[in-house]
Amino acid sequence: MNRVQELIEPRPITERPLRLSEREAPTPRPDEVVLDVAACAVCRTDLQIIEGDLPSRALPLVPGHQAVGRVRSVGVDVSRWQPGDRVGVAWLGGTCGVCTRCRTGHENLCDEATFTGWDHDGGYAESMTAHADFVFAIPPTFGDTEAAPLLCGGVIGYRALKLTGVESGGRLGLYGFGASALLTLQVARHRGCEVYVTTRSRTEQTRALEMGATWAGSYHAPPPIELDAAITFAPAGFVVVEALKAIRPGGTVVINAIHLDTIPEFPYDLLWRERGLRSVANFTRADAREFLTLAAEIPIETTVDRYPLADANIALDRLMRGEVDGAAVLTM
Ligand SMILES: [Zn+2]
Ligand SMILES: [Zn+2]
Repeated sequence: MNRVQELIEPRPITERPLRLSEREAPTPRPDEVVLDVAACAVCRTDLQIIEGDLPSRALPLVPGHQAVGRVRSVGVDVSRWQPGDRVGVAWLGGTCGVCTRCRTGHENLCDEATFTGWDHDGGYAESMTAHADFVFAIPPTFGDTEAAPLLCGGVIGYRALKLTGVESGGRLGLYGFGASALLTLQVARHRGCEVYVTTRSRTEQTRALEMGATWAGSYHAPPPIELDAAITFAPAGFVVVEALKAIRPGGTVVINAIHLDTIPEFPYDLLWRERGLRSVANFTRADAREFLTLAAEIPIETTVDRYPLADANIALDRLMRGEVDGAAVLTM
């Protein structure tokens, strides 16, 4: 049998919408692997799916798109993985493989892309299936629980950092300092960037300084120096405008949010002189492989707050309230 946390109908997290259920153990289709899940990190996107901010694509649904586990069985067409291999499953669950974007290294923008824990069942479960081409080897440097948060916040933060174009020695602003920003800061520091962190929470400001940020402050206190680039993590539109105010001509602000409220009107002067504003839409498999290798090399530290699978509703509630220290991870 397979114990899972499933969503029957999107509802506010305060109503404890996930239900612990027993399902039949999954079997792989020809191109899939079945994983015994060891750990699955909890992401803000899970919360948005569960509460209905992102429209449901499948119900009932097992959420979770940052799962680490061991391959239990493989489909008949799978040669890449063997039972026992330790792998991770992330948000990008499949693409068409033949469209222009898939063929030019932009598979993250494929119109047919499917997503783990949204289009199909994810990792809030003792076992799950995943397409064999969309799972990643986990470097031995990391334990199961420590590796899980790397698979969403880590990889997407890495892609966002690439999109900023910031170079070694450059000054990078991070707006919002949750699990993803915490990982991105470490990559940016490894690259030799100075990092300026803006966040409402005093605790997070202190954490940012401990992790090597040059400066940390609140949204009302702009960074003391002009930035080359910035990444916004906070799911609030006004933050994007604050970031634009802080960057130099020619600099880029990358918005790392799947769901954002309206960006307030701002004077064109903030964008004038070739400042750029762009979003980051998940990641490619190449990003994931590059990032996992780099994460082991640095090595990246992850701070995790563990919850048993049965307490998924509690973990989500605490994430919503901003009470999670680092990344919440469900352990099976
Ligand atoms: Zn995520
Ligand atoms: Zn495609």
